[in-house]
Amino acid sequence: MADLDVVTRGGVLIDDEGRIAEVADADKLRKEHPDARIEEVSGVLFPGFVDSHTHGVFGPPRTADQARRAKGIEYKTIAEQGGGILSSVRDVRALSEEDLLALTRSRMKRLLGLGTTTVEVKSGYGLSLEDEIKQLRVIRKLGDQGPTLVPTFLGAHEVPAEHRDDPEAYVDLVVNEMLPAVVQEKLAVFCDVFCEPGVFTPKQSERVLSEARKLGLDLKIHADELDGSGGAELAVSLNARSADHLAAISDKGVGALARAPRTVAVLLPGTQLFLGRTNRAPARSLIDEGASVALATDFNPGSSPGMSLPLMAMLGVSQLKMAPEEAVIAVTVNAAAAIGVADRVGQLAPGFDADMVEADIGDWREMPYWYGANMVRRVWKRGAPCP
Ligand SMILES: [Zn+2]
Repeated sequence: MADLDVVTRGGVLIDDEGRIAEVADADKLRKEHPDARIEEVSGVLFPGFVDSHTHGVFGPPRTADQARRAKGIEYKTIAEQGGGILSSVRDVRALSEEDLLALTRSRMKRLLGLGTTTVEVKSGYGLSLEDEIKQLRVIRKLGDQGPTLVPTFLGAHEVPAEHRDDPEAYVDLVVNEMLPAVVQEKLAVFCDVFCEPGVFTPKQSERVLSEARKLGLDLKIHADELDGSGGAELAVSLNARSADHLAAISDKGVGALARAPRTVAVLLPGTQLFLGRTNRAPARSLIDEGASVALATDFNPGSSPGMSLPLMAMLGVSQLKMAPEEAVIAVTVNAAAAIGVADRVGQLAPGFDADMVEADIGDWREMPYWYGANMVRRVWKRGAPCP
């Protein structure tokens, strides 16, 4: 994870398809390709950042929740007072697809301006067949107008109010009605589940994910965020693409991820920070024992309205004790692996999409360093400058 290749006075040769043909010394490329159209870049050029965990389709922000939290009110009470995740569900259900599309488009444009060229986006604020599909259609309609979007079905995000007395009936609905509809319309690449005491049990999570796999979806798990219930181990046993959160992961879970052949640990330090929680995901022991670690924003209206991956990289260093190299890898190469696009994005290397970010800094180490200002000057997707 600390294997970062830095080229000084480098150049990137891009082919007509917007793919990287060569990365080499700039003067050498200039000499060898005298007819190429040249764009001068100063500062540091990074691969486009990859946000591997967001809940980017939502209605209004939840500022009232934040004010309640500042008064010391617990999440359970906030939910009873009409806030919490189910308030975002009410908001999404009330909005038309067009209105959700407009909101999401403008938010994704902001992410792009912060250097994020690929974003995983989950449903999970609909929690009914119709409203989950509505969220996923918004993701599909946006496609790659802004960042390139990778869709995840998260029907098992929470049990909606109308099924509170019988959560098992809601799991039936997810498995028997939502999943087949999502797959039939080809609306998702991944299926995700919130595996956490009080939300979905490991048994329920396994049921949803096994059905999803049978239908051809790849898997993710919200694992061990609050109390821990073996979500990381479940992710590894199902050979999921990622296990996300992990602030309450057990030593056994760390060991399982360290030995996992393909499961990336996606850490979300912005969430812990925004909620004022003091426990942290054990990035250091995960990395030291051999796990692949990515950092993501968890962009959502309740627990992490953060949009900036450079900020998450900074938190990775300052809060999770990651090396700056590891933080850069965690928002590029490993983030791409966490959403199954590591063969296309996340690196400035031949064959990869020319998704690139020019940062107004003198040294790459300044990316996970400055915070509170956007150091991104220009962004390209497949070789084309983004407006
Ligand atoms: Zn999440």
